[in-house]
Amino acid sequence: MLLNNFTYHSPVTLSELCKLCATINDYKIKAGGTFLLNHLKAWKKRGAKTPANIISLYKIPELKGIKKDKNEITIKAMTTLTEIAESSIVDKNLSALKVACSSIATSPIRNMATIGGNIASRFVWAELLAVMIAYDAKLKFIGRDKKTEIVGAEDFVDYKIGADKILTEIIIKIDPDAKVVYKRSTKFASVDKPFLALCANIRTDKKKIKKARIVVNNCISFPQRDNKLEGFLEGKELNSALFPKIAENMDYRLYDLKSDDYKKTLFRHIIKEAFRELKG
Ligand SMILES: Cc1cc2nc3c(=O)[nH]c(=O)nc-3n(C[C@H](O)[C@H](O)[C@H](O)COP(=O)(O)OP(=O)(O)OC[C@H]3O[C@@H](n4cnc5c(N)ncnc54)[C@H](O)[C@@H]3O)c2cc1C
Repeated sequence: MLLNNFTYHSPVTLSELCKLCATINDYKIKAGGTFLLNHLKAWKKRGAKTPANIISLYKIPELKGIKKDKNEITIKAMTTLTEIAESSIVDKNLSALKVACSSIATSPIRNMATIGGNIASRFVWAELLAVMIAYDAKLKFIGRDKKTEIVGAEDFVDYKIGADKILTEIIIKIDPDAKVVYKRSTKFASVDKPFLALCANIRTDKKKIKKARIVVNNCISFPQRDNKLEGFLEGKELNSALFPKIAENMDYRLYDLKSDDYKKTLFRHIIKEAFRELKG
C-alpha cells in the first residue's frame, strides 16, 4: 500500500530539529520507524488523517550513542536495541537491559527500533519502560522552545508528552551492589510481542535485602511497581526459604488484572524464577 503524501524532514542538529518543530504544526516524529510506518498505513486504511510532515531523528548525531561517566550511563534516544544489546558498557553494568533488548522482536526490528521510540510510543506492552523504572532511570526531553526537562521513568506514565516534547536521552545511575533481572514471556511463538514481563532490582547488604524495586508489566496497563512485595522484601534474607513467602506477599491487583488462569500461573512462576536468579 502506498502511503499518503508527506514532506520528509531530516534535521542534522538538535537545534535545527527544535526550530523545525516550532515552525510546522502537522508533523510526526520518526525514530526507527518500526511503529510509525505501520501507523501511517493503518490510519490511511481507516480513512483517518495522516500527518503532512514526517521529521526524522536519524541524522542527528547528538541523539546517538552510549557513554559512561563515573557512576552514570547515558543512552541517547536514537540508539537502536541492537546497539544496546551489543554494547560492552551495557553488558558490564546493565545486564537486565541487555536481556530485554536482546529478546524484543526479531533482529531486523531490533536493528531499526530505538530505545527512545520504544519508550515514547507509550504502548503499554512495550518493554523498556519497565526496565527503566526498575533501574530508576531519568528521561530527558527537549521542547520546541529548546527547554529541557528531566522526568523519572516512573513518573513518565503520568507525564503528558505533547507533540513538542522529544525524548533525547536516558540517564541511569550505576549501583554496583544491585542485582537486576528481567523476565518476559510471549503467548504464541508466532506473535513476538510480550504477554507479561517482570523486572526486579534488589540491593543486598550482607545477604539482607536493603532495597527492592519490583516492576510488573501485565501488558494491559502501564508497568507498575509492586509496593506491597517491595515492602515485604526489605530486611529479609535472600535465600530459598523466602521463595514461598513471595507468592503470599504479591499485590495481586497488578498481576491478575484481566488475566486468565494461564497468565496468573505464569506470573507466579516467572517471579519465582527471577528470585532464584537473583539469589544466584
Ligand atoms: C513486528 C514487531 C514486533 C515488536 N515486538 C516488540 C516486543 O516484543 N517488545 C517490545 O517492547 N517492542 C516490540 N516492538 C516495538 C519495537 O521494539 C520498537 O520499540 C517500536 O517499534 C518503536 O521504536 P522506533 O524507534 O521504531 O519508533 P518509531 O516507530 O519511529 O516511533 C514510535 C512512536 O514514538 C514517537 N517517538 C519516537 N522517538 C521519539 C522520541 N525520541 N521522542 C518523542 N517521540 C518519539 C514517534 O513519533 C511515534 O509516535 C515490535 C515492533 C514490531 C514492528
